[in-house]
Amino acid sequence: MVYGALDIGGTKIAGALVDTAGRLVARGRRATPARGSADELMAAVDAVLDELSAHPEWSGLSCLGIGSAGPVDTVTGSVSPVNIPSWRAFPLVERVRAHPGLPPGIRPVLVGDAVAMTAAEHWKGAARGVDNALCMVVSTGVGGGLVLNGSLHAGISGNAGHIGHITVEQDGPLCPCGARGCVERFASGTSIAAHALESGWAPPAGTAPTAAAVAASAREGDARALAAYDRAAKALAAGIAATITLVELELVVIGGGVAQAGETLFGPLRRHLGGYAVLDFARDVPVVPAELALDAGLIGAAAAAAAMTAGTPKTDGSASTPTTAGTPTTDGSATTGGTPTTAGTATTTTTAGGDAAAGRGARELPAAS
Ligand SMILES: [Zn+2]
Repeated sequence: MVYGALDIGGTKIAGALVDTAGRLVARGRRATPARGSADELMAAVDAVLDELSAHPEWSGLSCLGIGSAGPVDTVTGSVSPVNIPSWRAFPLVERVRAHPGLPPGIRPVLVGDAVAMTAAEHWKGAARGVDNALCMVVSTGVGGGLVLNGSLHAGISGNAGHIGHITVEQDGPLCPCGARGCVERFASGTSIAAHALESGWAPPAGTAPTAAAVAASAREGDARALAAYDRAAKALAAGIAATITLVELELVVIGGGVAQAGETLFGPLRRHLGGYAVLDFARDVPVVPAELALDAGLIGAAAAAAAMTAGTPKTDGSASTPTTAGTPTTDGSATTGGTPTTAGTATTTTTAGGDAAAGRGARELPAAS
């Protein structure tokens, strides 16, 4: 038995067959034609699926997970990756399902990339055996995912854990998402570099002004570089403390490019967390680096699919687990009413959050088929 995985990002589309021990037994990969048309992008996904389906292990496929740059909508099975402009509400699940190599009964499971990373860390990485954890990716953006009560908590539309867009400064700088003072506005690699430059830091001659260059200067004691990391760490700490206080966590895992700064980030982060997470139940939650790097997206997509399809009857791909239930069948019907308040009933197969799902359906319809 193997799990299939696709990892769709702004630079590459990767695929793999993952065995039940979490090892990659086959791989496929294409560069993302990020400026290409929707169909050119899909052709790259199909090419990766062609490669995987030609592998002998494909016959043992038990599920297929798709981790994608977000936002994703697991109710409609569509994706709108910020850095892939020609995919807006693109019906990725339906299109992957239409690949001729896909065995009947395999319903692709869509998750956001940060949720996939969380599934990977929970299965094979730093959050192994931990029932309540927040896993974060801090790089050009700030993302996250939650494990609650031992299970991946993806949320109604697959976007739970979006810690990068929690406000930590009420009147803070405007974020591209439209809100103010978001964690990401302080802690993303881009924000760290921009803040350091604004405060007078300059990268060594011939070096690009990246967060990694700021980290190198911080390690040499540059006060402006240290201040930029302290500011990022403080914002992360405030967001993490809010999350711990809200849901109670045992562990926080941080990966992504910015986390490669090591103690330059983790040192001030732990210190600030001590000042924000002060209630007895919220104090002293360990914050550790992620363990999986390169293949976390693929391993996580496989893990999420395996978890979410457990117990799904193979004969009927529909709606058997709470986490996948919202994914529409091919007709995608019923949410088209456009009346967010009254259409709530009977529109999705989820039991909880039907109203919310209906509201989303009304403003973000699946692409007309
Ligand atoms: Zn934001």
